[in-house]
Amino acid sequence: MISVFGSANMDLVAYVPSAPKMGETVTGRAFRTVPGGKGANQAVAAARAGAQVAFIGAVGDDPFGPALRGALFESGVDTSRLRVEPGPSGIAHIVVEDSGGNSIIVVPGANGTITGCTAEDIEMIARSRALLLQLELPLDAVVAGARAARAAGVPVVLTPAPVVELPNELLDSVDLIVPNEHEAAAITGADDPDDALKILLDRVPEAVITLGSKGALYGSRAGTRLLVPAVPVEAVDTTAAGDTFVGALAVARAEGREPAQALRFASTAAALSVQREGASTSMPSRAEIDAALL
Ligand code: ATP
Repeated sequence: MISVFGSANMDLVAYVPSAPKMGETVTGRAFRTVPGGKGANQAVAAARAGAQVAFIGAVGDDPFGPALRGALFESGVDTSRLRVEPGPSGIAHIVVEDSGGNSIIVVPGANGTITGCTAEDIEMIARSRALLLQLELPLDAVVAGARAARAAGVPVVLTPAPVVELPNELLDSVDLIVPNEHEAAAITGADDPDDALKILLDRVPEAVITLGSKGALYGSRAGTRLLVPAVPVEAVDTTAAGDTFVGALAVARAEGREPAQALRFASTAAALSVQREGASTSMPSRAEIDAALL
């Protein structure tokens, strides 16, 4: 089982020819509400990619709460550790341009009420093959999750998004960090991904920097370096490409695949997701990933 301790947001997605500048109004061509949040997205991605997954998090007591729980449940994710907090659920306001690029505002809502792990959360984490963390929960909660996993010998995979200063007390418990190239540059101060990778490996044993359509760069302290090209496809919507990549990567690693194979599995899953609109709705099943890998 893989545990995900993270955010669940309702994504409010507007599709526009190009995103409005400050003070400008543009007419969109479509609007959708889609269950999302980096935590929930990674949970769904991992479940679709073939793992048993438990989600630890919170939704509000608004109408989005049951919809978010239902979406996780339908993807086969264990929601027994998803609590309901008074007030609104988290939301993400997403603008998708015809180019496939996106911009996002996140309002944390119930996610922001989580400040640590309960005894039941810790018990769930301790039973896992991996713990996936992102930074859409308060930092204290993320640190508590990472420490609980480390104490139980469970590998921790951190997606450092949205970017914040990463304290040593967090990174000391992280086994694999997976930033995109912008996050890697912001965290390390190095624009060149090779330089950023070296700096990341001073702080964590393994790192993957995702480079969008340019692929993904992997490094380990043990000295392995891999550049895995993206699968060439026509991108329709890159929302949650990174979360699909991380969810699939975690599944492949939990199944014992070597880094090169695991990265190929993750790149294939992400490439399938960018060919469809939406976040969790665009994530491929294990059968689709396996078929595309042939
Ligand atoms: P997002 O924030 O949109 O979820 P991200 O910025 O976290 O994405 P990216 O680096 O854009 O992550 O993409 C993650 C992975 O998805 C890449 O390493 C690549 O394997 C795959 N990918 C992204 N964009 C494309 C594309 N246009 N074509 C093929 N694969 C892609």
